[in-house]
Amino acid sequence: MYESIMTAADHPPASLHLELPDEAATQAFAGRLAGLLRKRDFVGLGGVLGAGKTTFARHMIAALAGHEMEVPSPSFTLVQSYDFDGFTLWHFDLYRIETPEEVYELDYEEALMDGVTLVEWPERLGPMLPAMRLDVTFSQGPSPDARIAEIKAHGDWRERLAAMSDD
Ligand code: ADP
Ligand code: MG
Repeated sequence: MYESIMTAADHPPASLHLELPDEAATQAFAGRLAGLLRKRDFVGLGGVLGAGKTTFARHMIAALAGHEMEVPSPSFTLVQSYDFDGFTLWHFDLYRIETPEEVYELDYEEALMDGVTLVEWPERLGPMLPAMRLDVTFSQGPSPDARIAEIKAHGDWRERLAAMSDD
């Protein structure tokens, strides 16, 4: 199982460029992606400080909960987990780790094997970054509240992303 998550996908990733003119657009996007999640998914959230990674994660977690809720940033605790019907969602912020191995102390393997894993600063994982994953990278858009999301789908995320861009 671990092998199948880590092994490189056959095809190049599928990509999608999304313009998010304001935070409501980010919220809507997070809600749509929340509806596609299943156990053993990995979603990497890229972008500089302030790009919107935690904001996106908060909206995704609220969408899964079905109501507004307190979603603390894991910037100090490094990880927060949430139990939903069907899976536990693990929200990591790896900005402060110094070596990829530190994630083992944060129950990273349990998250990968049995949960849904959302990771801010996924590049900190080095060789522990799963091949089967969705990458969402945020950057500043043309106005203060605008963001651009560059999405890259690897492995079976390709079909799910295609379904999302069709409707
Ligand atoms: P990061 O986790 O990437 O460091 P945060 O999510 O903590 O960034 O901060 C992003 C900030 O930008 C928040 O204060 C959020 O309210 C604001 N923001 C403004 N517009 C947007 C948008 N379209 N999408 C996401 N966040 C936005
Ligand atoms: Mg953050």
